[in-house]
Amino acid sequence: MTFDRWNPLLDIPAFPGDRYAVIADRLAAILNTRNDVVMIQSEAIVALEAAATSIIRPGMKAINIVTSPYGLWFGEWMRRAGGEVIDVTAIAARAIEVDAVADAINSHPDASVLSLVHAESASGICNPLLEIIALARTHGLLTVVDAVASVGGHDLDVDALGIDIAVIGPQKALAGPAGLSALSISSDAWRQIRKPGGLSNSILSLSDLKSWIENGRGPLPGTTVPLEWHALDAALGRIEAEGIDAVIARHTLAAKATRAGIEALGVDVWTSAETGSNLVTSVKVPEALSAEKLLTTVTHLRQPLATGVGPGAENLVRITHTGQQACLDVVSAAVSAYGLALRSSGKDADIGAAQAAILTVYGKVGR
Ligand SMILES: *Cc1c(COP(=O)(O)O)cnc(C)c1O
Repeated sequence: MTFDRWNPLLDIPAFPGDRYAVIADRLAAILNTRNDVVMIQSEAIVALEAAATSIIRPGMKAINIVTSPYGLWFGEWMRRAGGEVIDVTAIAARAIEVDAVADAINSHPDASVLSLVHAESASGICNPLLEIIALARTHGLLTVVDAVASVGGHDLDVDALGIDIAVIGPQKALAGPAGLSALSISSDAWRQIRKPGGLSNSILSLSDLKSWIENGRGPLPGTTVPLEWHALDAALGRIEAEGIDAVIARHTLAAKATRAGIEALGVDVWTSAETGSNLVTSVKVPEALSAEKLLTTVTHLRQPLATGVGPGAENLVRITHTGQQACLDVVSAAVSAYGLALRSSGKDADIGAAQAAILTVYGKVGR
């Protein structure tokens, strides 16, 4: 029997061998870095696990900032690699305080690594990256930043800040495929990664990826996943057409408008503007209501509303304005839907005022 239906997903053309280096350079431009950028044909969790396990050697001490399950996992991976990990845990679903990080660094002068998540899509917080990286650098710590959610949504100046390893994925603010990830790696980080005793012949080995660079950044070793590479190529093309600064500004605006709309509904946003992410706005649901039940009243409206993820965030409602959802239409409809959910649960919600507030924020742009 023959199968003769045309389908664009069948028989995907190979991704040209000379274009992986070009993709790496385009990612480096987004990260504002001249550090090496290496790529992994897997979702960003693998890149994070690779960073944790490649940088640690038994007996090394690391300060690990925990603001979500991602931070917890990162600490576990460093422990598994033999590291002594000092978790600095924020109040549940809150951004970390710089003072708490300073205390940990001062109490552990023998630490050599500091890790943190930049912005959290799980709870909608953004950690004070600038201050923390500056602090880590003055103490000579290697820094590892999970920027999977923040890249494209927040300023991320890897070289100006001096981030040793930044881990990114295209699937959040860059609105690209989820099956690939990338890391920028400084020369200090490479020195640590290549110390004896590290992993090799492993998907988790960053050291193995160095040989792609040393061999002239041609085709990736092994069989590649063309569908994902073409999708990343297209996603980067769209980002470059808009301009990375404009993409970040669009996320900043969406966050600002969402906050204005929610406040005009008569509801408190979970975070302050300074500690809120540009990707997700979290809202604390009224006392005695469950976030999950509240959201079932508006499921039929198909808006990007979800409950929070991780300790302390379960009873938050997250309004997502990440990637292509960082736009007026989505913000406007999602905030209205949340207003309707409140009304269905017997609460007051001034949806008209919310829409006016959102339009005021958007109306100021370009004038
Ligand atoms: C989304 C995200 C990741 C990637 O993990 P998922 O498998 O997509 O959940 C890693 N870190 C952070 C901070 C993220 O927001």
